[in-house]
Amino acid sequence: FNFTYKPLFNAEGEVYAILHAAMDVTKQVQLQKQKDEFLGIASHELKTPVTSIKAYAQVLERIIRSEGDEKKASMVSKMDLQLNRLTSLIGDLLDVTKIQSGKMTFNPVKFDFDLTIADLVEDIQHTTSKHTIDIDLQSNAIVFADKERIGQVIINLLSNAIKYSTDANRIDVKSYVQDSEIIFNVRDYGIGISKESQRLVFDQFYRVGGSMQHTYPGLGLGLYISAEIIKNEGGRIWVESEEGKGATFYFALKM
Ligand code: ADP
Repeated sequence: FNFTYKPLFNAEGEVYAILHAAMDVTKQVQLQKQKDEFLGIASHELKTPVTSIKAYAQVLERIIRSEGDEKKASMVSKMDLQLNRLTSLIGDLLDVTKIQSGKMTFNPVKFDFDLTIADLVEDIQHTTSKHTIDIDLQSNAIVFADKERIGQVIINLLSNAIKYSTDANRIDVKSYVQDSEIIFNVRDYGIGISKESQRLVFDQFYRVGGSMQHTYPGLGLGLYISAEIIKNEGGRIWVESEEGKGATFYFALKM
């Protein structure tokens, strides 16, 4: 039960009664738990068929390409791209349920920070013909952290930079060491984020408002998951931005 007490005052300012309310929260907690469990099961169940469809699409593309039908092959290749999107959305939902149930696991390994960033930038550069991603990697750091999870954060920040700067064609990626911290940042020249929203973008489901929701697809989970990952690795994550001029997302890991 959730108890609340509220004193009632008379004209002299003396307490003449105490209002006492009790609310049964067991049911609410139970419902929330059921919802979380459902989300976990649903995203897990969605993952299996999508993975299988993806495998078939890739085989199909190879067969069609070997037969020389470029037009059909490019249609299947577009299917494959959308399947990637679906896989990543389902992955985000799964991660959220893992975070909420405290079951997100971290396997730290030693890895070359700059090299990892360079590889990921190269991968993501292939997904955009409009943007040129400039790199200036100077951390020279070997990091001890979960490489996959840190990579996930970098990909999240890079894909947001691309997604929210459709009118720009430049993105800058940097790494360096400052005050015993290894820092990554990605700067875009897109729509930017207002001061009020900057505090909120790392919240679960938060998306900067209104009609923009239809222009830029997403669930509002990427930055929340990224923040949880960086927190778990003992680091910090933040954004600097001026609306209309672009945004710079940072994360810092302890040396
Ligand atoms: P999603 O992109 O799926 O909505 P995120 O959690 O990655 O979810 O981001 C939350 C919100 O923060 C986005 O909806 C967008 O409004 C804002 N945002 C994130 N990255 C940028 C960026 N580089 N420029 C402008 N706005 C951004």
